[in-house]
Amino acid sequence: MTTPKLRAELDGIPTYKPGRPPVAEEGAPAFKLSSNENPYPPLPGVLEAATAAAHSFNRYPDLACSVLTEELANRFGVPAEHIATGTGSVGVAQQLVQSTAGAGDEVIYAWRSFEAYPIITRISGAVPVQVPLDAEERHDLEAMADAVTERTRLIFVCNPNNPTGTAVRRAALERFLDRVPSDVLVVLDEAYREFITDPEVPDGIGLYRERPNVCVLRTFSKAYGLAGLRVGFAIGREPVAAALRKTAVPFGVSQLAQDAAVASLRAEPALLERVAGLVAERRRVAEALAGQGWTVPDTQANFVWLRLGERTTDFAAACERAGVTVRPFPGEGVRITVAETEANDLLLRSAERFRKEL
Ligand code: PMP
Repeated sequence: MTTPKLRAELDGIPTYKPGRPPVAEEGAPAFKLSSNENPYPPLPGVLEAATAAAHSFNRYPDLACSVLTEELANRFGVPAEHIATGTGSVGVAQQLVQSTAGAGDEVIYAWRSFEAYPIITRISGAVPVQVPLDAEERHDLEAMADAVTERTRLIFVCNPNNPTGTAVRRAALERFLDRVPSDVLVVLDEAYREFITDPEVPDGIGLYRERPNVCVLRTFSKAYGLAGLRVGFAIGREPVAAALRKTAVPFGVSQLAQDAAVASLRAEPALLERVAGLVAERRRVAEALAGQGWTVPDTQANFVWLRLGERTTDFAAACERAGVTVRPFPGEGVRITVAETEANDLLLRSAERFRKEL
């Protein structure tokens, strides 16, 4: 029997792996530290906005996400035409690749970085060009600029980087941008922007204002806690933003997501308080791990990275037995989301036990 013909480009593309859900031992608490989610309930007013929107889900949502777009435009001081929304920032990232890179074109990104980059690149038929992180787990921006060829169409800079948490600073990023040809799109993926405390790490929106080939990717999934509603956005110049509107799945962002995102933007004081709490926990977790003898790269995100090599899966299994599910990258390391204090404490105890048994 013959089967339908599928595109050869899909052969061998890994499917996206979600973080494992927590596995509770009898009667014990279990926490999911494997997807960089926000542990808190919705910000004030957000559940009400989403519930109100739920009353009309027999209707299609606003295709243009106009209220959200207007709110974002005011918030960031950019023209509404420069904003494009999508189904999570991964949806917008896929639109960015589709808009720039076809068969044989090249997409450059650091590796290891966000696991969707190779998937969305290959779905487009483009060629992934992976540039290894440096010894400090940071983007090697010089090597990334060296990797640019005639075929390069897009470069992702994940800042801070998932899964290592490291961030590139202004001077290095500007040197890099100076070297990239102005007809190559540079996407600054700032999914974790709200957690950055290092003043040397530039806000991508400032760079977008100065450079027409820079586009910034943001999400409501992390700090804002709307991961399940799927809404993200890009800020970029024409014609990039216009191309994103063409490649968007029509009606992809639900009205629930749009209204919840608007309410979240309007709840900024509560957001900042929560982010400050998570940042304080991040410092506590990173310092405690370092105190136990682990090497912890400086993290600007809501997670920490431990390069454990061959011990990665054993460490993840030990954490799971202790009630916390982390994200292992077998043979490389684990990414651990910073969450509520109780979960972080369980993680720290598990890491300490593991260390002592080495
Ligand atoms: N970019 C980075 C760097 C991420 O880590 C993630 C989430 N894992 C995303 C984009 C996508 O998030 P979302 O689609 O939920 O906005």
